Amino acid sequence: MTRIYNTKKRILVAGGAGFLGSHLVDRLIEKGHEVLCVDNLFTGTKQHIYHLHNHPRFEFLRHDICFPLYVEVDEIYNFACPASPIHYQHDPVQTTKTSVVGAINLLGLAKRLKCKIFQASTSEVYGDPHCHPQVESYWGNVNPVGTRSCYDEGKRCAETLFFDYHRQNGVEIKVARIFNTYGPRMHPNDGRVVSNFINQALAGRDITIFGDGAQTRSFCYVDDLIEGIMRLMNTDDDVAGPVNLGNPDEITMYDLAQKIIALTKSASHIVKLELPADDPRQRNPDITKAMNLLDWKPAVKLDNGLVETINYFQESTHQL
Ligand code: NAD
Ligand code: UDP
Ligand code: UDP
Repeated sequence: MTRIYNTKKRILVAGGAGFLGSHLVDRLIEKGHEVLCVDNLFTGTKQHIYHLHNHPRFEFLRHDICFPLYVEVDEIYNFACPASPIHYQHDPVQTTKTSVVGAINLLGLAKRLKCKIFQASTSEVYGDPHCHPQVESYWGNVNPVGTRSCYDEGKRCAETLFFDYHRQNGVEIKVARIFNTYGPRMHPNDGRVVSNFINQALAGRDITIFGDGAQTRSFCYVDDLIEGIMRLMNTDDDVAGPVNLGNPDEITMYDLAQKIIALTKSASHIVKLELPADDPRQRNPDITKAMNLLDWKPAVKLDNGLVETINYFQESTHQL
């Protein structure tokens, strides 16, 4: 097999037509790899990969990872799972199946191929945390029967499966716990705070703050996140994770609304609506582990990343 001696790999990206997955696909293609993008297009779109449709090193397969997949690849990244509450609560049973059955299928594939596999886990495994900022050793505070549970518990179970395939079958795993990420190719209508506020501000509509706006989040620009993910994938065999990846700069939703109003020069007003159930009060990553292991930390300032995202939404509004 020449592949063993070749630094260029054939890489499977499950969920590669989504927001994060499509950015990773671009980076892998840039680096000279072959990419097999597998996606059922539930929340992803061919638009995110359209520029690659004639590329000799790119292939797209419409497939649901809840079903077995027999392909030959050197490396696997798993991003397949709807990520925003509107999407993952649309069919919660399918959400859990995607995280759990999907993970079993991709881990079975990795086991057969003896290849490395990355899991896009989430800060939601910490639930509404009692520990702040969140370190990887914190076990979390998750409601197992609430409306967010299909996502949170599905992702927790996927982590369990990754570590058991690692311990039981020697599969090389890399697990990242991703914190809120934003940037171009975010869904315009996924109800996430960054896309909501930008769209509302651009349209001059009211900016909808849920609750009192004092809750915090920490937003990482997509390019920074993808860099961290690729560095994690290239660590030594003994590094499995989980590793937090996110931006530790924390901001209240009220301050975020003010910032977006200022950057868009919008005349929008802020209105306060009811806080959704199980909405975490604070979320902030402790990225000490990532800094030490990966020599990585986010470089893009929130204002700069927001300008890129605002430009993207302005351009995509023209296309619609
Ligand atoms: P996204 O919805 O844009 O991407 C998910 C992709 O997976 C979509 O293209 C979708 O069509 C595909 N998909 C869903 N179910 C599938 C299935 N059963 N089979 C095949 N494909 C399927 O979301 P995203 O923001 O790009 O998130 C990607 C991953 O990163 C998700 O696993 C998410 O949990 C994780 N994550 C994202 C964030 C964030 O801030 N965006 C934060 C933490 C974790
Ligand atoms: N699988 C797959 N592709 C492969 C190998 C396995 O999709 O190349 C799926 C298959 O559905 C299998 C699951 O991964 O049931 C778990 O595989 P594993 O070898 O762990 O267990 P099995 O169920 O085969 O005993
Ligand atoms: N949020 C808000 N207005 C909106 C959308 C969201 O105030 O229009 C709040 C939401 O209640 C939460 C925070 O913004 O406290 C982040 O929400 P998002 O859904 O983007 O991410 P997550 O809650 O999954 O971190």
